[in-house]
Amino acid sequence: MESKELPAGSTNKKTLTPKAVIFQKYGSNACYKVEEVRESDQSEIGLIVPQKGPCLYRCTLQLPELSVVSEPSKKKKDAEQSAAEMAIEKLGINTRMIDPTPQEAWESLVARISHLFSDKFLSCLHPLSGHIGAALQRKGDLCGSIPVSVIAVYDPKICNLCKFINPAVESYPFLVILYIMRASMKLSEYLATSERCLWIRKQSPYPQEIIESLMTEGISLEDIQVAAIRIPSSVEKYVEAINLHISSKDYYLDMIANELGLEDASSVLISRNVGKASSETRLFFATPKSYHLDSSSDLLNGKESLHYEGSLNVRASYLSGQDIFGDAILASVGYTWKSKDLFFEDITVRSYYRMLLSKTPGGIYKLSREAILAAELPLTFTTKANWRGSLPRDMLCMFCRQHCLSEPVFSPSKALSEPSECVKVESTANAKQSEEFKCEVKLLSKCGDLIIKCSPEDCSKKQNDAIQKTCLKLILWLNEYFKNINFPFEKLYQTADSPDIQIDPKIFFKEFAICQSLQITQLSPIELHELLEPFCMDVSYTMLKIEGPDSGVCPSNGSIPCISYSVSLVVEGDNIKEVLEVCDEFEFEIGVKAVISYIEEVVMQMSAGQSACFTTNLPSSQLILASAGGPFRIRSLLSSKSCCLEYEINLTKVTEPLEERMEQALFSPPLSKQRVEFAVQHIKESCAATLVDFGCGSGSLLDALLNYPSSLNTIVGVDISQKGLTRAAKVLHSKLGTRSDAANAPWKGITSVILYEGSITDFDSRLHGFDIGTCLEVIEHMEEDQASVFGNAVLSYFRPRILIVSTPNFEYNVVLQRSNPTSQGQEEESDEKTQLQSCKFRNYDHKFEWTREQFNRWASDLAARHNYSVEFSGVGGAADIEPGFASQIAVFKREAMADEDLQKDTDSEHHYRVVWDWSSSSR
Ligand code: SAH
Ligand code: MG
Repeated sequence: MESKELPAGSTNKKTLTPKAVIFQKYGSNACYKVEEVRESDQSEIGLIVPQKGPCLYRCTLQLPELSVVSEPSKKKKDAEQSAAEMAIEKLGINTRMIDPTPQEAWESLVARISHLFSDKFLSCLHPLSGHIGAALQRKGDLCGSIPVSVIAVYDPKICNLCKFINPAVESYPFLVILYIMRASMKLSEYLATSERCLWIRKQSPYPQEIIESLMTEGISLEDIQVAAIRIPSSVEKYVEAINLHISSKDYYLDMIANELGLEDASSVLISRNVGKASSETRLFFATPKSYHLDSSSDLLNGKESLHYEGSLNVRASYLSGQDIFGDAILASVGYTWKSKDLFFEDITVRSYYRMLLSKTPGGIYKLSREAILAAELPLTFTTKANWRGSLPRDMLCMFCRQHCLSEPVFSPSKALSEPSECVKVESTANAKQSEEFKCEVKLLSKCGDLIIKCSPEDCSKKQNDAIQKTCLKLILWLNEYFKNINFPFEKLYQTADSPDIQIDPKIFFKEFAICQSLQITQLSPIELHELLEPFCMDVSYTMLKIEGPDSGVCPSNGSIPCISYSVSLVVEGDNIKEVLEVCDEFEFEIGVKAVISYIEEVVMQMSAGQSACFTTNLPSSQLILASAGGPFRIRSLLSSKSCCLEYEINLTKVTEPLEERMEQALFSPPLSKQRVEFAVQHIKESCAATLVDFGCGSGSLLDALLNYPSSLNTIVGVDISQKGLTRAAKVLHSKLGTRSDAANAPWKGITSVILYEGSITDFDSRLHGFDIGTCLEVIEHMEEDQASVFGNAVLSYFRPRILIVSTPNFEYNVVLQRSNPTSQGQEEESDEKTQLQSCKFRNYDHKFEWTREQFNRWASDLAARHNYSVEFSGVGGAADIEPGFASQIAVFKREAMADEDLQKDTDSEHHYRVVWDWSSSSR
């Protein structure tokens, strides 16, 4: 390879397993014997009772020079590998030098081909043994002759050896045919070959009993019908469905040859498999007429002459990543490693469009969500919990496979504590440095050349998140590239304008050119259109109808709505409606563009329980064909002018993790914990003996109070939510229930804990005159006037000595939204004010969120009216840095105890219901 612009991974030649190394050197002269060892066998200590524990394996490897015995391993495989590794060490084999020279590879190739035609080989389970068996049933002259293309495709060992003979095989897989022909000509005493017709046959017949056993195996086979598709080489013609009739008495490849208008299987070339790694789907096409083997050329110098002059089949070539000429048949039929029987599976026009779709990162995502018309590749990775569909890392691996690249290389690393780069709001009080991770991801060609590298500076708390985020960044860039694949070559590099992404344009172009032998610029516009149409998504949305009562449960940025939807093709005048895609339960994260923009836009206007209907103009016909069942009707509909897509959506549920998620993700420690700590600090300093937590929810503060020794003896929680109280009771019960070490517990001073059900806007005389009252993140859950009712009630009737009230600072939402990357870049030009107005509340249950000024006014008025002083503070962010604290807190202090306060105590007003009551004396 010549000079590279980026330091390429020169050492990333795939390292072989120890067993493979031994195999390369010794072949079948290496003999592995695995035996079981019981755990007790190796126990030297006589006292241990022999157990029928897990079985272990020990492997003996016998080589001509020596033999080694492995340590016991849990798996047979590991025992063998470890034996091989020991042998390598003893023999001093340099594993890096183990790659065969072209000459050695050439010799192994000849040996391998001779092995394939041995009697022994016919009995092993190998795709080729299936072919050989089937070919023995061919009639007349063809009996027993194997198309060379079959050998070239179905034996991975041969492919590997050919790569050592000539690395160009990677890009020109059909060169393998040439090497196989050459090698079998070396075996002319044993094999008959036809250079012109490209087949190989064993000279002497197989023993009769082998033939007979093959016949009986074949008997169970019935005639089969396999759906396949034809991809015409002319892009003016549609891809069409065909049916392959395969009779049990024939060789299936001959049937495919007939379908291609060829005489027999020897003139059929076969592509590598298309789609998933396990797929048997391949393209079958005619050997180009001018296909010509120059057997006089010097093979080992790699100056092969292999000429094609057929018309390149652009669609088929794009699909398989290798040059395909003339009309091609895409089918999933053949012999496998799993069974002696012929494997087959239907391939429909729809599957073809899906395969086409899966060549692009965005398409991989759509397919993984089974929502071709609805899903889009999200722009950001927030958390694994919010992600739906294939994870970015898996998509990237899939993408590399689709494009015949090496597996991506992930290199996560610990980030140096440089918080400025990280999206994170440090808690001022508790700036404990926590670990963060970055990750670099590289894509390499099959030969190990570096194509593209993505190394963003963003940090994540979890290593896995860092990997996912970088993968997504890379995938998004690649997806953009695929949308603009017809870019002139020179502009390619410039599209990588993100500083995080570096590409090697030369290698990149080589690997991603739609067809390797073809300059993209040579493609006609119509061909480009056919291949890239899925991305031309200039969809506009036309009409909207929202139905059903407003439940008030609305999705907002970061929440996860669950919808059911159906998309249909409708022809307006004709009353035609063809359902394309239906889904009962589809969840997505709002704000990361995980669905087509109109779905998100519409869902944002809905509340749970409502349904909506809107129409859009048509996206690409390829997307529609990839989701639709029968292509013929759809195709005719698509050609009608008044056709559009109709979406029907029901919003079934809204999961609202936004506030909690932000508080956890952006603050360290989480904001909720900081609020509790703030309160605990004040309680300790106040020397209070009695505390009431207004709106205690699930009891996080009460629970925290039991963790510290304090002057408190009575703590009380009030809430209107039965659910919250039940949870609080559970938490407190499990902590207080254990009497055994009560004397040493931090809460040993506490004598009474009570939970009340009731509204904090109502007074209950049992809670009058407490030392301290807390009300954390509660008032915003009430209507504004109710918040004032509570304020007045608490300061005039309950009259605690100290009252702590916290509530979100609305102005801080800008920071939260900025770090929630959804709105990034969108509103750059709008001024702060409109940005603020567009902010939603942090939680859908919030009835209001106040600015600092609003909160100050509320609290100051209240304090003045009831003879309290008030001071303002907060947690998350800082007082003197705009926009202030994330949670704003008011601390009220009673100035003096008036007479009427005491009076109130005497009227016993019990509006609360005790739901849980614990006292130390009663235990
Ligand atoms: N203080 C807790 C819970 C905050 S969530 C914490 O910081 O974790 C808000 C709580 O206020 C909910 O549990 C809700 O049930 C409660 N709440 C709302 N309106 C109320 C009312 N009028 N009376 C009592 N509790 C109320
Ligand atoms: Mg709240």
